[in-house]
Amino acid sequence: MGTNLIRIKSEAEIKERLEAERTRLRKIAGLDQPAHFHRPVERAFTAEERNRVTILFGGFTWKHEDLIRAVFQGCGYRCENLPVPDVPAFQIGKEFGNNGQCNPTYFTVGNLLQYLQFLEKEGLSRQQILDNYVFFTAGSCGPCRFGMYEAEYRFALKNAGFDGFRVLLFKDSDGIKAASGEPGLKFTQDFGFGMLNALNLGDVMNDLIYQIRPFEINAGETNRVFRETVDGLCEDLKNRKSLLIVDRAPAWVKAKLNKKKMIRDTVNAFGKWHEHMWGKDYLNALKTARERMDSIEVDRLRVKPVVKITGEFWAQLTEGDGNFHMFDFLEREGAQVLVEPIATWVAYLMYQAKARAIAKWPVKRPHQNPKWYEAKQHFANYIGLRKRLWGIGAGQRMWNFFYHRTADHLGGIAHRLAPQAELAELAHPFYNQFARGGEGHLEVGKNVYYTIHKLCHMVLALKPFGCMPSSQSDGVQSAVINKFKDMIFLPIETSGEGEVNAHSRVQMALGEAKVKAKAEFEQCLKSTGRSLPDIREYVDAHPELKRPFYHVPHREGVAGTAAQFVLHVSDRIDRDTRFRKRARVPVVTAPATSGD
Ligand code: SF4
Repeated sequence: MGTNLIRIKSEAEIKERLEAERTRLRKIAGLDQPAHFHRPVERAFTAEERNRVTILFGGFTWKHEDLIRAVFQGCGYRCENLPVPDVPAFQIGKEFGNNGQCNPTYFTVGNLLQYLQFLEKEGLSRQQILDNYVFFTAGSCGPCRFGMYEAEYRFALKNAGFDGFRVLLFKDSDGIKAASGEPGLKFTQDFGFGMLNALNLGDVMNDLIYQIRPFEINAGETNRVFRETVDGLCEDLKNRKSLLIVDRAPAWVKAKLNKKKMIRDTVNAFGKWHEHMWGKDYLNALKTARERMDSIEVDRLRVKPVVKITGEFWAQLTEGDGNFHMFDFLEREGAQVLVEPIATWVAYLMYQAKARAIAKWPVKRPHQNPKWYEAKQHFANYIGLRKRLWGIGAGQRMWNFFYHRTADHLGGIAHRLAPQAELAELAHPFYNQFARGGEGHLEVGKNVYYTIHKLCHMVLALKPFGCMPSSQSDGVQSAVINKFKDMIFLPIETSGEGEVNAHSRVQMALGEAKVKAKAEFEQCLKSTGRSLPDIREYVDAHPELKRPFYHVPHREGVAGTAAQFVLHVSDRIDRDTRFRKRARVPVVTAPATSGD
């Protein structure tokens, strides 16, 4: 027999040969996949390091950042905010980051690297930087590139020679849970309530500065006063004592509560909540802030187009090269900027969570097809969804309540949060609310909302280059503009270059908005039958009308501050016996006052 028989000597050899053959066949069939990516395990940031390690963060406005830093410091952390990202930071981001990222990635990643390089130039060794600093940022797993930020930070840090630098995550989809799970960064009740206050205060202060500065009589006064006011609020957040209400109870109550941990913790939590929100120190700090800001003298008779800013989260928030210093530019060009609070984004996340829970319930309900007589199952299906909706609904109400309460304590003129249900409804014919990523349907919803309610003269959408969700909503906006003919909408792609081009496009659209604002003002003035000098004379005789927190009732259908103001002053003159006898031109119908 000419057959070559292979002699197999042992059981182990059979296994070995079998494995080799299996590997060969898997390879031929293409079943061998490269190893899965696993999120690198970050070196722990431990509680013992708190006195030595500085937490870095950034990406908001200076008002938000200062207030957030104060909360960190008040909770015993060393903390620094990064400078506002600039073009050199963008270039560093491009140099060390991946290709094809969106604009905010380059700016924010480059900004961190630039800061670490600055520390190195200041004399710190790389090892000292790795040991003594950590970066705190948000993370997500959404469909846009936001989900890649964390990996992008690590990749660029490694390329720039800072491999091992710690990036801690605060996942936006996980609420208050620390994704890092490291005990060095502990989410206590004081920290949570402090952050809630810091975010709301930052939003409201940001809204106010853009409402007041265009009308200030003494140039530079608003910036100076706001600097002092934010510093004052930071002092309050930083020096807040951690209250344990149980410690204030009589000894016998304390002794009883100490035996019942759950009750003691609940009492303490409510005590802290009360102290952070309604405590005497906090309310006094708000009062001082309000009085400081109200000392700025304003002239509301300056006719200015109101420009509503929308767009991508970071591009519409940053105040530097990341959006071509757009807010400064608009103010220099004579506009009043209407900014977007971060609170809208949080409200959007909660609204979406609720809408998704409803949409998914038919497949998630515990009993799929109960018979008509199976009342228990029907009830379980009903109550299961309601429980979820009540939970999210309570969160929504509390979020809105605390934001508006802060706004009311700080003068009451900050804009209210736009209703999420209406934004989704207005966007729906153009953009499905379940198309996630970036601002989702918000860009379209806000454009329609601010236009149909006549809350602005122009909408400017700031969209970073390479932004996938913004490109989608840009495509849709042409259909929106076709439907709302009097809408002035301009999308601007922000990037590390092209500032002059962007400014000149804005200038052109702003020209139209100015004409619209002027025409509106003249129509309103005419409707009062009074002359501008008459109105001005009345304002000069009544100094309270020059205070920023003087409440001018909102008129439906009037967007401009000056137009609203003349209508209101004219109403006051009508009620004032000393002034109303002045001659007036026959009255044209004026828009109605709303109860806002
Ligand atoms: S929304 Fe756009 S710009 Fe922002 S992270 Fe996502 S892809 Fe980038």
